[in-house]
Amino acid sequence: MTEFLSLDGRVAIITGGARGIGKAIAETLAQRGANIVVVDLRKELAEETANEIAAKTGREAIALEADVSNQESVKAMIKAALEKFGKVDILVNNAGITRDGLIMRMKESDWDMVLDINLKGAFNCAQAIVRPMMKQQYGRIINISSVSGVTGQAGQTNYSSSKAGLIGLTKALAKEVGSRNITVNAVAPGFIETVLTVDLPEEIKDFSIKMTPLGRFGVPQDIANAVAFLAADESSFITGVTLHVDGGMVM
Ligand code: NAP
Repeated sequence: MTEFLSLDGRVAIITGGARGIGKAIAETLAQRGANIVVVDLRKELAEETANEIAAKTGREAIALEADVSNQESVKAMIKAALEKFGKVDILVNNAGITRDGLIMRMKESDWDMVLDINLKGAFNCAQAIVRPMMKQQYGRIINISSVSGVTGQAGQTNYSSSKAGLIGLTKALAKEVGSRNITVNAVAPGFIETVLTVDLPEEIKDFSIKMTPLGRFGVPQDIANAVAFLAADESSFITGVTLHVDGGMVM
C-alpha cells in the first residue's frame, strides 16, 4: 500500500526555496518523496539549501537561479527543470517580499516591485508550466498568499493587494485547468517566524499573538505541512481553495 501523503516520483519546483518558509516546504516535499528544484535569486544560497535537502532526504535536489518577476528568467528556469527531470508535477509559488509603508508615502517603485514579484511572479511561473502539466494531465499549483491578503493590513496596500490577487489568480486558474487534472490552491499563512517578520515592531508582534487563538506564532513547518497535503494525491478533489494556516487569526 502507498504511504499516506506520499510524493514518491513527483518533481516539485519551489520558488524562493532557499530559505524561510520555502526551504521548509522544499525539505518537507523531499521527505515525502519528491525530487526538488530550489529556485531563488541567490544561486549560492539555493545550492546550499538543495545540497542540504539532498543529503538529509536522499532525494535529488537541484538549485536554479531565477527572478520570478522576469518572464525570460522564469522560462529559462522551467526549461532547465524539465531538461533535468523530464517533468514538473508540483509548482509552489512562494517567492515574496514586503516593502511596507503608508500609502501617502509609498513610492511607486515599492508598489511595482511587490506586485511584480508576489503576483506577476506567480503568473509567470504558472504560465510557463501549465502547458506541460496539461499535456501530462497532472499538476499541483500552490500559491503562498497571506492573512494580509484576506483581511487587509494597514501599511501594506502593496503587499495586501498582491496577496489578495493571488487568491483571485488561484480561483480563476483552478477553473481553467481543472478538466486536465490540475489543482490550484492557495495557502494563507498567519504570522510565521522568518527573516520577513523578525524586524517587525514588538507591538505588532504582541498584537498578532493576541489576535491568534492558538496563542503562538507559526513556524515554517506549519506552512510546509499544509503544502505537502495540497501537493499529495489525497487532496485530488480540492481546488480553488485558500487554506488558512494562521492559528485561527482569520475565521
Ligand atoms: P523570506 O525568508 O524572505 O524568503 C523569501 C525567499 O524568496 C528568499 O529566499 C528570497 O530571496 C526569495 N525571493 C525574493 N524575491 C525573489 C524573486 N524575484 N525571485 C525569486 N526568489 C525571490 O520570506 P518567508 O517569510 O519565508 O516568506 C515566504 C512566503 O510566505 C512569501 O510569499 C511571504 O509573503 C509569505 N508569507 C510569509 C509570512 C510570514 O509571517 N513570514 C506570512 C504570510 C505569508 P533573497 O533572500 O535573495 O531575497
